[in-house]
Amino acid sequence: MKSPKFVYLFEEADGANKKLLGGKGAGLAEMTHMGLPVPPGFIVTTEACLHYYEGKKKLPKGIMEEVQTNLKTVEEKAGKKFGSPQNPLFFSVRSGAAISMPGMMDTILNLGLNDKTLEGLIQITLDGRFAHDAYRRFIQLFGKIALGVEEEEFDQILNKSKARIGAKEDTDLDADHLRDICGQYLGLIKKRTGTPFPQEPMIQLKLAIEAVFRSWMGKRAVAYRKEFNVTPEMANGTAVNVCTMVFGNMGFDSATGVAFTRDPGTGENVLYGEYLVNAQGEDVVAGIRTPKPIQEMKKEMPKTYRELERVRKTLEEHFHEVQDFEFTVEKGILYILQTRNGKMNAQAIVRTSKEMVGEKLVDKEKAVLRLKPHELEQLLHKRIDPNFKGRPIAVGLPASPGAASGKAVFDADEAERLGKLGHKVILVREETKPEDIHGFFASQGILTSRGGKTSHAAVVARGMGKPCVSGCEELRIDPKVKEAIIKNVHIKEGDFITIDGSRGEVYLGEVPTVDPEISKDLLTLLSWADEIRTLGVRANADTPEMAMKARQMGAEGIGLCRTERMFNAVDRLPIVREMILAGTKEKRAEAIAKLLPMQKNDFKEIFRTMKGLPVTVRLLDPPLHEFLPSAEELASELRNLKELESAFASMENISGAMRYLDPSSRDSLKLLENVAADITEIKEKRLDKKLIRKEQDTLRKVKEMMEVNPMLGHRGVRLGITYPEIYQMQIQAILEAAAELMKEGVDIQPEIMVPQVCTAQELKWVYQLVKKIQKGVEKQYGVKIQFKFGTMIEVVRACMRAGRLAEVADFFSFGTNDLTQATFSFSREDAENKFLPLYNQRKILQDNPFEVLDVKGVGRLMMITIEWGRRTKSDLKIGICGEHGGHPESVEFSHSIGLSYVSCSVPRLPIARLAAAHAKLKEKDKKPPEKYDPDTSFSIFF
Ligand code: ADP
Ligand code: MG
Ligand code: MG
Repeated sequence: MKSPKFVYLFEEADGANKKLLGGKGAGLAEMTHMGLPVPPGFIVTTEACLHYYEGKKKLPKGIMEEVQTNLKTVEEKAGKKFGSPQNPLFFSVRSGAAISMPGMMDTILNLGLNDKTLEGLIQITLDGRFAHDAYRRFIQLFGKIALGVEEEEFDQILNKSKARIGAKEDTDLDADHLRDICGQYLGLIKKRTGTPFPQEPMIQLKLAIEAVFRSWMGKRAVAYRKEFNVTPEMANGTAVNVCTMVFGNMGFDSATGVAFTRDPGTGENVLYGEYLVNAQGEDVVAGIRTPKPIQEMKKEMPKTYRELERVRKTLEEHFHEVQDFEFTVEKGILYILQTRNGKMNAQAIVRTSKEMVGEKLVDKEKAVLRLKPHELEQLLHKRIDPNFKGRPIAVGLPASPGAASGKAVFDADEAERLGKLGHKVILVREETKPEDIHGFFASQGILTSRGGKTSHAAVVARGMGKPCVSGCEELRIDPKVKEAIIKNVHIKEGDFITIDGSRGEVYLGEVPTVDPEISKDLLTLLSWADEIRTLGVRANADTPEMAMKARQMGAEGIGLCRTERMFNAVDRLPIVREMILAGTKEKRAEAIAKLLPMQKNDFKEIFRTMKGLPVTVRLLDPPLHEFLPSAEELASELRNLKELESAFASMENISGAMRYLDPSSRDSLKLLENVAADITEIKEKRLDKKLIRKEQDTLRKVKEMMEVNPMLGHRGVRLGITYPEIYQMQIQAILEAAAELMKEGVDIQPEIMVPQVCTAQELKWVYQLVKKIQKGVEKQYGVKIQFKFGTMIEVVRACMRAGRLAEVADFFSFGTNDLTQATFSFSREDAENKFLPLYNQRKILQDNPFEVLDVKGVGRLMMITIEWGRRTKSDLKIGICGEHGGHPESVEFSHSIGLSYVSCSVPRLPIARLAAAHAKLKEKDKKPPEKYDPDTSFSIFF
């Protein structure tokens, strides 16, 4: 069998074949084809590397002959000779796999140097110091990489010499010093390897190629591939690039530098970079001299600058991507040494995407794909100013992204009070509860010492798009004294703090932040994403204000409107409590009658805001006791009341005993006497007793309603069926709101959604209730109401019964938060606070399933549900409204299993829109997920 070709000249290699040539080699080949000035050279392929390993670490036969042949051509082109003392050719030997693996191997520069060619280098560069330093570095690097001599031993020699001469820096060494050090280096190599340093250039080259191949299986490289999951399909073996050395240190018409074809920080369409005159690449990296901005080259080296401008244009027109390239100028002649796709920040990607479409460099699809959804996230939140250098005083969990500063406040009421006065506040709590919600609205951000990333604080903050750091355990909070202690620092109420919810950091004082930027360019890019995607994107929004924001951010409807958020409003809560605590049907009806017009108004406003688009209203979901004070709170109030009662009793006695006092002091006691009279009046009216009785009643009711597992208890549709008045009122409010708006001629698309359904019977029960109320409302208003009726899918049984549920439902909406809890049998608070971190760490679970949808388990259930649901009703609309709806990977999965839409929190809308477009574009080169076939699966059981 004829062995394959292992060595390619830059001009004959196929620059598209990164797998064979490695990234750097492919770039060099491609640039050579394009006519860019690349110093001549050749590539030893990755295939040769694989053969090297197959052949028990021996170079494949004939390879050095191939190298020799190619070298000849290079010598001719360069007009120099490898190993010639008069006119020597030197090479750089550089590794390069298909995927860039930084730090895998150092580049060997000036290969071909030996005692004789050193003289030639001095001739070329006219710089004895430089030539000796190059030799010194070459011996050291070659000794370490190719011959395996410890780097430290070289350093010891160098340091001893420096000490002897009294040199502080390497730069204090002159040519003679360096010549001496070279001599010692050569001695060291002979001592350690038993043979003299290879003076023969061809042998140096062979050893260098072998060393590059060895580095592929080196510790650093193997660890890197493992860490970043680099599979053999992505990169298999490294190539070796052998490239003629060019010198940027041959006087003031020579230079070296790196440049981007556009500014990677802003995306601006200008040449961007740095350079050094009379220097080699290493000098830039080593930081010995400070490079100049490339714009200065316009004046200093105008011809080269114009050439670089041309290179910039050529590179972009060829690669259709911003390039990051290395160059060297030798005596006025420009050489390009490397090019690759430029890494940019999100802002720069957005701007270049928009502009490159305008310049017809890329199409809209490519432009959209350039911005990764998780990179977009950077742009959507306030960040700590990247120039700020301070350190955090504590670190918790990054629960909701963004940075915020404000005065520390330790309870929700105070937060609301200060917020209304225009102060910026950060709500600091051990943990938060639904009754703290008004404090959230008033705060810039939330900091808690307990709770995971799905604690109440985290979930609510994310929903509102406010920064949150949760589970900051270093923080000790004392709400009574109103202070928090971190290490030895006391934070008192009113002290400024800053939190960074993207990193989980807490800072003292007001740290400077930079604003999020939804630039015009980003809006354009998102509008292109909308043209591409087929998956719908809706928002979870509970108020007209949020609905308005959702519309502005491109939501195509509301996928989840939580009615309990309306019940929690300050003016509603007392009425809601009245309703819950009502002793009789009549009393309850009274309270409900007060709630009806309020809810109707809520719905009207939201429907109106979202006119022309669907709005899914979920009927009441949480257990009722969430609207009541806790048993502990009540018990403590009751104790206070009883103390008051006994205080009253003793006050009365005081007034009786007052006549024994000295008449002169009686006057001053007049006040007390008045108080006593008031108390008697209170007692006569038995006000205190009434209060106590009321409180006792509430406490009894609260205790009655207490549940062991409230989240698996009396909630959702279960509550709706047992207290039908509540759902009745809500349905009435929705339909009346709809009827009134229809009469006004507003185009509305209401959808009624039932939570926690596990059997078709439940759904049918609610459905007949809806039908009955619909009849009444239609008669009253004289209109036919168009609306949809559907169910949440968040109970495992509901998935299994999807076929039956679809008989009644027009749509399904996966509540993946609860469905994930139910599938794993994890209560998410407990999971996140106790065992999940360890599970993730040990890789027992890859991700936190409450953040990243568990495709294998929960996803499977979803696929079954879709399959069975659509068998019953082929046009069944199916969405997802759990927090996962805004997570890029989950959005992609949702697209691939045929969901109609995702619904996410308002701030995540841009991410969902972009991710949905990516899903559509990537679908072409992806296998669809395994179809779940219920029939074949059933045959296993029966
Ligand atoms: P890396 O993968 O770390 O970028 P390179 O192989 O690009 O490594 O080499 C690092 C530096 O060495 C380059 O930036 C350049 O300054 C210098 N270099 C490499 N090859 C040559 C060459 N043929 N002539 C001059 N300098 C070179
Ligand atoms: Mg390198
Ligand atoms: Mg490089």
